Amino acid sequence: MIYLDYNATTPLCREGREAMLPYLDKFFGNASSIHQAGRDARAAVDNARDKIAGLVKAKPHEIIFTSGATESCNLGVLGLARGRPSKHLISCKTEHHGVMHAVEHLAKHEDFEVTWLRVSESGIIDLDHLADSIRDDTALVSVMLANNETGVIQPIAEISKICRDRGVLLHSDMVQSFGKIDTDVSVVDAASFCAHKFYGPKGVGFLFLRSGLSIQPIMFGGSHENQRRPGTENVAGIAGMAAAGEFVLRDRDTEQDRQSKLRDQLSDAISSSVPEAKQNGDAIHRLANTLNVSFVGLDSEMLLIALDLKGVCASSGSACMVGSVRASHVLLAMGLPMERARSAVRFSLGRQTTSDEIVATGKAISEIVERLAESKRGEYAIA
Ligand code: PLP
Repeated sequence: MIYLDYNATTPLCREGREAMLPYLDKFFGNASSIHQAGRDARAAVDNARDKIAGLVKAKPHEIIFTSGATESCNLGVLGLARGRPSKHLISCKTEHHGVMHAVEHLAKHEDFEVTWLRVSESGIIDLDHLADSIRDDTALVSVMLANNETGVIQPIAEISKICRDRGVLLHSDMVQSFGKIDTDVSVVDAASFCAHKFYGPKGVGFLFLRSGLSIQPIMFGGSHENQRRPGTENVAGIAGMAAAGEFVLRDRDTEQDRQSKLRDQLSDAISSSVPEAKQNGDAIHRLANTLNVSFVGLDSEMLLIALDLKGVCASSGSACMVGSVRASHVLLAMGLPMERARSAVRFSLGRQTTSDEIVATGKAISEIVERLAESKRGEYAIA
């Protein structure tokens, strides 16, 4: 199997697994219990919080553990917006649904007004539109750092400057960025992360929330995480996330450099065998591991099934329903035509990706496209 879907999830690294194991059996206590077993678990959570804070250059009490990125994005958006006196939000239609649907929920059910920012064809938000859209009653801006489908990186420092000059809070989904590019949270007020995108376990993540900011919880129960997120901590997951975070940052730049060369190798292989293929997203401001290509005239779902049959795991990057792939909302928001959105395939590379796998994938794509194009020509001939 050739796995090229690292933006969907990554395998657990050895360091993450080893950090988790003691908390799955020997140290199984509840971190809120006052006895020794509880104190052991609490020590692991505190230790992981210190490590994670260090990795994103935050303070330990600025880290709120969650069940993953969706919860972290929901908490960032709903929790911050609901705590403000005003009801205007600014976001973008290229966001992950974890942010977009939370913003839409506030608009539909809680009387918030939303300005959706314009994005260029290359997927970068219009900064002038952002500056013009901020109003006296703007409660929150939410813009992701790197896009999961296209890998496009938003100019977060400029976005931050615009928001700060106008005194508006900024939340950023940094889920796809950690371990790939700098995620210094000092430019934002809140940022969302999750472990399974950086070789940690699934079902655990965190929200960075800048010191001094209050947030309304979105769930109700105990007083965990300083009254900000109730529920017994996932001790093993949290320990695994911290270890994976350290692991992934150790040689980040060399590894990203290696992946960008492989990505370019794949891109060249596709362009030479399928000249009508079109790359989506900004060619410069993007993650080193992500390649999003439209095979115009063909259908993403057919391509993905054919790739799977040849042992290549890729994705359309967009929401999958049972048995069908919807056209990407991200590519449509970038103003690309439906046929381009419907024919897009995302290849996302990772630490285990090798050059031989890239050569094999290039060959598989060439054979598949040739065969699908031939069968299409056959259909037209019969019609
Ligand atoms: N945000 C981004 C950018 C993502 O890529 C994902 C997952 O694909 C999420 C949020 C949601 O992550 P999870 O499903 O782990 O909650």
